[in-house]
Amino acid sequence: MSCIGFWIRGHETFDSSLYLHPMKILAGNWKMNTLPEEGLALLDALVLGLSPERLGEVRIVVAPPMVQLSQAVERLWNVPEISVAAQTCHQQSMGAFTGEISAPMLRALDVDAVIIGHSERRNYFNETDADCAEKIRSCLNHELSPIFCVGETHQERQSGRAWEVVKNQLQTGLSQVSSEEIVDVVIAYEPVWAIGTGEVATPEQAQEMHGAIRQWLREKYHASAQNVPLLYGGSCKPSNAAELFALPDVDGGLIGGASLVAHDFLALLDALRES
Ligand code: PEP
Repeated sequence: MSCIGFWIRGHETFDSSLYLHPMKILAGNWKMNTLPEEGLALLDALVLGLSPERLGEVRIVVAPPMVQLSQAVERLWNVPEISVAAQTCHQQSMGAFTGEISAPMLRALDVDAVIIGHSERRNYFNETDADCAEKIRSCLNHELSPIFCVGETHQERQSGRAWEVVKNQLQTGLSQVSSEEIVDVVIAYEPVWAIGTGEVATPEQAQEMHGAIRQWLREKYHASAQNVPLLYGGSCKPSNAAELFALPDVDGGLIGGASLVAHDFLALLDALRES
């Protein structure tokens, strides 16, 4: 499997060797928002606002609630420029795990990617880095691109441990990913203190962390690491996106609140395309 992240519905997959730079990705995490009709209206508004010129080289990803994945895939069937992601999955393929959804189930729905290790999953549902490693393994086994979230808390940053925390998350979370597979992984740096708070990382903080992640990937995976897209997430909105997306090691964004407003999400697309 080799597509810099994404299997394209009904199309040949990308050949990552064609790309010298990471793909630009704008991903919207809708979290537990939108009823089915609202989800469809949001998708329609995005599609209406898209044109090849507006898209440029950016790949868009939307992550609706689980129960809306089918309708999203169906609505976007002829819009291969927009990939569909789940917000989590279970690490096992099947079994007695009441309420859970597995990677092969998502793949059977033609979902393209899965957000793994979002800080809300870590905080509220006790997901550990070891769980993330198994979930990422399961995604790769089933042709789904993991969007792996890492990031430190406010306290960890205050105590000077931000990189140590993120490095440990990377080390454990990616422990089962080979050099061939790393190009199918997307990494999102999401400082926990910036998610949904309105507080955004400064360009210096974001670049320092993204640069460190890139360097770590280079040391572990050598040449293949250059194609791993690194997304920033945490209160990214049209008013602050341009300076974040312009940073050398920021290849896009994982967007929460602003992804629920088509106008804002499209403005973020403009900022990323022009970065
Ligand atoms: C997120 O939940 O991944 C996120 C970045 O949220 P927000 O953009 O609302 O801070």
